[in-house]
Amino acid sequence: MRQVDHFIVGGGGGSAARTHQIWNPSTGEVQAEVPLGDAALLQKAVDAAKKVQPAWAATNPQKRARVMFEFKRLVEANKQELAELLASEHGKVVDDAHGDVQRGLEVIEFACGIPQALKGEYTQGAGPGIDVYSMRQPLGIGAGITPFNFPAMIPMWMFGMAIAVGNAFILKPSERDPSVPVRLAELFVEAGAPEGLLQVVHGDKEMVDAILDHEDIAAVSFVGSSDIAHYVYKRGVAAGKRVQAMGGAKNHGIVMPDADLDQVVNDLAGAAFGSAGERCMALPVVVPVGHDTADKLREKLIPAINGLRVGVSNDPDAHYGPVVTPEHKARVEGWIDTAEKEGAEVVIDGRGFSLQGHEDGFFVGPTLLDRVTTDMESYQEEIFGPVLQIVRAKDFEEAVRLPSEHQYGNGVAIFTRNGHAAREFAHRVNVGMVGINVPIPVPVSYHSFGGWKRSGFGDTDQYGMEGLKFWTKAKKVTQRWPDGGGDGSNAFVIPTMG
Ligand code: NAD
Repeated sequence: MRQVDHFIVGGGGGSAARTHQIWNPSTGEVQAEVPLGDAALLQKAVDAAKKVQPAWAATNPQKRARVMFEFKRLVEANKQELAELLASEHGKVVDDAHGDVQRGLEVIEFACGIPQALKGEYTQGAGPGIDVYSMRQPLGIGAGITPFNFPAMIPMWMFGMAIAVGNAFILKPSERDPSVPVRLAELFVEAGAPEGLLQVVHGDKEMVDAILDHEDIAAVSFVGSSDIAHYVYKRGVAAGKRVQAMGGAKNHGIVMPDADLDQVVNDLAGAAFGSAGERCMALPVVVPVGHDTADKLREKLIPAINGLRVGVSNDPDAHYGPVVTPEHKARVEGWIDTAEKEGAEVVIDGRGFSLQGHEDGFFVGPTLLDRVTTDMESYQEEIFGPVLQIVRAKDFEEAVRLPSEHQYGNGVAIFTRNGHAAREFAHRVNVGMVGINVPIPVPVSYHSFGGWKRSGFGDTDQYGMEGLKFWTKAKKVTQRWPDGGGDGSNAFVIPTMG
């Protein structure tokens, strides 16, 4: 069976006491194994990182950027291979896997501009003869702990920024689809980065705890589910680290009576069901405003959802593929059971879905639930599957209140032709990322990504200038250069080279 190894200087050292199986979700077969590392293995990575980081920090930013440019070229040259590998372990369709790689690359493109972004600030004459300037310096060694659902994009969000500003980086990717993160680290070395600058250690809670407790790791960026994000945040901060921890989501799409319903249905097909709903910026809750809007929307949604094609990850015509593991399939179907018991109407039922020829794959059919109410647990919790819930709101005020009062606050969208309603909504809603007629409002790489409430712990966002801030510390210099005359004449003396 294929073995995925740690990517650390000196190698992972062969057989591990504990391993984790990697599925092929399309076939339901175990295709590889990954070792689960421990504190001793992490120590080897930290030792190697410590050796290379000071010289990397002292390398001028333009030269650091050249490595980023070359890495971008190599990832582009290997994109098809990366996308296929990613799709085979995650289950998302290859086209979608290309998007996963591409959105990570956009952060690398931002990192290529690091000389400009790192320039700092300067005030001349802040007092008599006094100038003030600030610079941002790297932290040393940073670590990233990433979820299964974007195995290319989220690692690149983190290491792209952390390394460009002068840190070494240790990545602990999801043990469910760890191969692409390792390939990215190999390409990074091929791009000219010194060995040890970007290393990948595999593991579960044991490795995460070792990272959080390690005194030489200055900062930890985490993306995953909320309970674990909160745990990582508390434990990392208690250990004196800088921590940002992004959590789960339950994003709402508000549909105003004046919205273009055909466009909304088209957007929802992608945003609720794409990637089998396993996106933190998916749109699993739709909130039509007024019963008339709800009925019309439901009528249009039914044929659109029934028309979705579920297929294996390398089926070029499939709209979406299997979910990631058999446990996750059972969990998603369990939430549909719960919703039904709680009184939601199961309009389209994706439970028990079987794909001909791939009966062992972890497929869940597209599901539509109507008459979902806020007291239902299936509304309050994240399902993370191809399930769309309709929550009917009586008016605009209720539509603003629903996402604002939800425990998660990652993304939200409003569909309307009314600029005033859109503006009011964007200003008032208690959610971190807002789309106006944009179903998945992921900010571009030169802005920053981050949710509110239980979707994000810590106070800096991912990538862009917020990412730069997270991975650096600011030094402020106040300088005064007294007149150098020395003979009391106050003469301005230009030093000579002798
Ligand atoms: P997860 O929380 O199970 O795992 C995330 C990481 O934590 C993995 O590296 C995993 O190995 C590690 N981990 C697992 N159990 C742990 C434990 N008990 N202690 C310490 N570490 C542990 O998340 P997942 O299932 O891989 O990813 C899906 C979740 O991530 C969803 O909730 C989704 O909304 C969220 N997500 C959020 C964002 C965002 O930016 N807000 C982006 C993508 C995914």
